[in-house]
Amino acid sequence: QQPRHAGLTLRDIVLAFGGVRAIDGLDLDLRPGEVHGLIGPNGSGKTTTLNVISGYYRPETGGMTCDGSPLPAGDAVGRAARGIARTFQTPRVVGEASVLENVMVGATIEGRAGFLEALLSLPRQRREERMLEDRARQALQAVGLGALADIRADRLQHSELRFMEIARALMLRPAFLMLDEPAAGLSTDEIKRLDQLIRGVSRQGIGVLLVEHHADLIFEICDRITVLNLGKVLAAGTPEEIRSHKEVVSAYLGG
Ligand code: ADP
Repeated sequence: QQPRHAGLTLRDIVLAFGGVRAIDGLDLDLRPGEVHGLIGPNGSGKTTTLNVISGYYRPETGGMTCDGSPLPAGDAVGRAARGIARTFQTPRVVGEASVLENVMVGATIEGRAGFLEALLSLPRQRREERMLEDRARQALQAVGLGALADIRADRLQHSELRFMEIARALMLRPAFLMLDEPAAGLSTDEIKRLDQLIRGVSRQGIGVLLVEHHADLIFEICDRITVLNLGKVLAAGTPEEIRSHKEVVSAYLGG
């Protein structure tokens, strides 16, 4: 059954660090199957927004809902259960474990602190493990790392680790996937692969939030874009609307 208000909404979110408002009255709407770009200069609040959505930060005021029901603030553990997954700017990797194991852990991951414990508890249930293994192999196939599943993760290159992060997030079978600068450090060809991957993910109905500096990628694949400046929404709309937005062009796109 389709929820009445499918989507993830943020309303009037405020979060300050030492009196400085990193996010200052933010509204955001993520919809199933849409790629939503979050852009803005350094320090505009993009990563903080991601941390609020994934429950690592508890905003001072404001509300969040997922598919029509409230999303408790500051509850990173509960986010996985609600189908909200993310990747990190710096890929998290246990180098001596296999690529496969590093991805399998995504199914049991519960917040940031649970990463190692989740990895250690993996062999507990054999049958469950085999199912997880199949899923992890599929996820690795999906991101183009199928052939590297059984090597040690510390043999992967930086760009491969970025794709591994996405495979791990896909293990949750998320409804919403947040990607924190996935194109950083990737070659032109790898960015094309990332582009195809994100399109494939959104075609499955997953809502994607893309925090990214790579403007070409953003304007190429996003259905909608929100531009932040000093923790506030400077502009929101389709790529065409954002491209022709006067303040955005002068402040951010340098036109
Ligand atoms: P962006 O991701 O757009 O570069 P951030 O969300 O990282 O921006 O930062 C927004 C603002 O909040 C900046 O002024 C930054 O210095 C501040 N900030 C972010 N995280 C912290 C923190 N943990 N402690 C103090 N200030 C922070």
